[in-house]
Amino acid sequence: MVRGDAAEVSLLERATSISRDLGLASDADLDRLIEAPPADADPAALKRLRQIAEAGGWVLVESGLADLPADLRWLYESGAVTLEQLAAAHAALGLTSAADLAAAVHAKSLQAIAGLNADIEQRVAAALPALRSSIPRIPLGRAVSIAEPLLERLRTTPGVVWAVASGSLRRAQDTVGDVELIAATSDPAAAIASVLEDPDAGRCLHRGARRLYVRTERTQVGIRLPDPATAGAELLLLTGSSRHVQALTELAALRELKLTMAGLRTAGGDLLPSATEDDVYQALGMPCIPPEIRNGDDELAAARAGALPALVTRADIRGDLHMHSVWSDGRDPIETMVRASVALGYEYVAITDHSPGSAAARNLTVDGVKKQAEEIAALRQRYPSVQILHGCEVDILESGRLDFPDQILQRFDIVLASLHERAGHSPDQLMKRYLAAMNHPMVTMITHPTNRLLPNRPGYELDYDRLFEAAAETGTVVEVDGSPSHLDLDGALARRAVAAGATLAIDSDCHRADLLARQMHLGIVTARRGWVEPRHILNTRPLVEVRALIQSKRAR
Ligand SMILES: [Zn+2]
Ligand SMILES: [Zn+2]
Repeated sequence: MVRGDAAEVSLLERATSISRDLGLASDADLDRLIEAPPADADPAALKRLRQIAEAGGWVLVESGLADLPADLRWLYESGAVTLEQLAAAHAALGLTSAADLAAAVHAKSLQAIAGLNADIEQRVAAALPALRSSIPRIPLGRAVSIAEPLLERLRTTPGVVWAVASGSLRRAQDTVGDVELIAATSDPAAAIASVLEDPDAGRCLHRGARRLYVRTERTQVGIRLPDPATAGAELLLLTGSSRHVQALTELAALRELKLTMAGLRTAGGDLLPSATEDDVYQALGMPCIPPEIRNGDDELAAARAGALPALVTRADIRGDLHMHSVWSDGRDPIETMVRASVALGYEYVAITDHSPGSAAARNLTVDGVKKQAEEIAALRQRYPSVQILHGCEVDILESGRLDFPDQILQRFDIVLASLHERAGHSPDQLMKRYLAAMNHPMVTMITHPTNRLLPNRPGYELDYDRLFEAAAETGTVVEVDGSPSHLDLDGALARRAVAAGATLAIDSDCHRADLLARQMHLGIVTARRGWVEPRHILNTRPLVEVRALIQSKRAR
């Protein structure tokens, strides 16, 4: 009914305040209110009250439906439980999420609650798979921006040993189901107090001894505060994926061990080291597997064979080859972008504004190219610690030609090429345009190759293996774009690109200086999902090698 919609939440809040002001206590009171509303009552809120009364959900208003954790709300709406049953389960077990519900079903603890029974437990079990798919997912970039300040706060709270995200957020999936954080702490009360003291942390929805649920930026955030001695096992279980965890649980069983939220335990219940994920993996005979590749497919075999990839990290990145300035649709002048890049410790950056025919709000003109080159030359004097490449992101036109003439393209240190519009072109036509661009000696890189827009616009349906083969053949780099609406290539495609022998770049595609670090991070975790290593990436290499790659293609 609410689905996290801000207007709806505010409407229900107004409806709730009407019912409180008038001291409504029963359905009969509500009937009277609807028949003879006070003259000054908010008509929209009254209308909603009437709808709720007709739907038989009157009690929802009093309990503040907007504040129900999303998973519980969806469970109620699935019809599996009544509100009273939901309240009883929540009161008895402190359930707030689908993961809690699944665990309660698994432990058969719902049927033991007064007012519930085995039938209801069955209904909850049956509702769970559909429940998951009906919960709206949050784009990764948004989830990271919500989680980061809370994690920072937790990390500086006395007693907290470490704090990280769990679930699909930690695995860096494109879209995230729950924002769930875990902080290992000997003093959970202090951690709860610290979060609640923060005016930006949002409203408290639920708190238990080692559990806090807040609503911030229209999103619910769960915070779990396990004991440091067993927190590694809890983190592992809650990070998933479910297939990965299932495989680990089976491996544990073979060794007569049990992997539980209360740590890795022997059959007799004795606790084995469980403070870190490393402890648990080690007990199961393998090194720690990076969360981004915990898919439950080939990562376990790789771990046991000692063949895990050495995934790229931020420390491997020497520069950022794709960003915009006020010369096109960026927010900041080049100097601001350069200064922020210096602060990030980059050895080089490329300023790559859009070409004249791009659909961007503002574009670099042919006249602008020369003036921009002069500005960059002056900045090179002022910022000698970073090498500034003068680049552009040129549109690939319908004909397959590029949106700057060759004699202009030759003035740039680096040329990135991209498609920005999708209307009316078949996959064959799109592929022809890409192939034409990749065969152009001036084009070093294809940016955001699928051209998807998260969360709603899917990417082109192309024969990507053919595209990646062509990239390898022509010596054209393909990008993992870290802009939160792109994350393109995604992990799966990045893995196929590497398999085809293509070289990747991880870029921020940033339009404002204060997001350079965040968007590079999103690009890195996306590439990590594709098993990408530093050796597969152009911008882990020193600038002389970057220049050599550009030159060798131009010399073709
Ligand atoms: Zn672009
Ligand atoms: Zn761009």
